[in-house]
Amino acid sequence: MRITRIVERSVPLRTGLSNARSDFSQMTTTVVAVVSDVIREGKPLVGYAFNSFGRYACGEQIRDRIAPRILAAKPDSLLDATGSNFDPLAVMACGQHRERRGGYAERCIPMGTVDVAVWDLVAKIAEQPLHRLLADRYNGGAVQARVSTYVGGGWYFPGQTADDLKAEMERHRSAGYRMVKMKVGGLSVAEDCKRIEAILSVMGDGANLAVDASCSFDHEAALEYAKAIAPYRLRWYEEPCDSLEYRTWSALAQAYGGPLATGENMACALELDHFLTYAGFRADRDIIQIDPPLAFGITEYLKVLDVAQKHGFSRRSMYPHGGNLMCLHLAGGLGLGACESYPDTFGIFSGFNDEVAIADGHARLPESPGIGFERQPGLYAVMRELVA
Ligand code: MG
Repeated sequence: MRITRIVERSVPLRTGLSNARSDFSQMTTTVVAVVSDVIREGKPLVGYAFNSFGRYACGEQIRDRIAPRILAAKPDSLLDATGSNFDPLAVMACGQHRERRGGYAERCIPMGTVDVAVWDLVAKIAEQPLHRLLADRYNGGAVQARVSTYVGGGWYFPGQTADDLKAEMERHRSAGYRMVKMKVGGLSVAEDCKRIEAILSVMGDGANLAVDASCSFDHEAALEYAKAIAPYRLRWYEEPCDSLEYRTWSALAQAYGGPLATGENMACALELDHFLTYAGFRADRDIIQIDPPLAFGITEYLKVLDVAQKHGFSRRSMYPHGGNLMCLHLAGGLGLGACESYPDTFGIFSGFNDEVAIADGHARLPESPGIGFERQPGLYAVMRELVA
């Protein structure tokens, strides 16, 4: 049993949306296929993944460093103790062979994307949906069949009016969603508060709305926004500043009573460990949003859970960033708080697959083996081309 090929391709996101700091017009993502020599129904089994949203493609490192190491390894060294499946931990160690400690952000995304594709392959070989495999190995077998989900919406776009925002929220509500996250920080505090009020007029209670400032504030502006939004009692206040600005986070944790959220820009579990040690995050309310393909994959996410637990955070505090099937399986199989969703934002990468029904703010887990990209037609057409 061996991995025979690792293939990647850059795909443009093609969206006109913006958050507070940048438009997404130039953004790309990398789609990866990890091909095995395990034959099912006459064809080799293949694991797939892509590297989340709002970042850039990462193919060079996969081509030049990670894939050659894995393909050159002795095949048996990448197998688990049974010899009947691949061991994602062994593949990770091999992919990171000869890399130094530190500088993790340089390689967390290419390695994370390959790692998630390896987990897809492992679950397919085991003939299980990924959430079931993860639950059996790391959650005492418990799966949450319906996962709490929320829409990453309320973006900025040119010419947007309050009515546009309300119409978007009506659309999400009629699709079965009950909570959304919106972008803030791209306009003045007063203008953003008007946007918040427009959205709340449809979504109802402040607990149904989170705001995401996409790291756009300095220390003073972060605190000023905190003061302005406090009366709305929102679900959470996400990334007012860079996650490395511990002084600002600590001040916010003192000044702002509502939940804070961050993590999508962290590279690894060690970075989260430092953050939770020094940034004043509160285990009884704050939210951790590390995104597996952006942070050394599912293999590293298991360490992330250990770090969070060490600091008193339960799995319900974990909301993996990136609305896609990869995070949905993690949330369902590991008992996490919720999964994001981008139902119509990112072209072929939008939404989940055709097995996932949304109702009353929850997503039903897919039952196809692996992650189930095969039942997300637009995206699977691109993935399948990789190995054609
Ligand atoms: Mg965010």
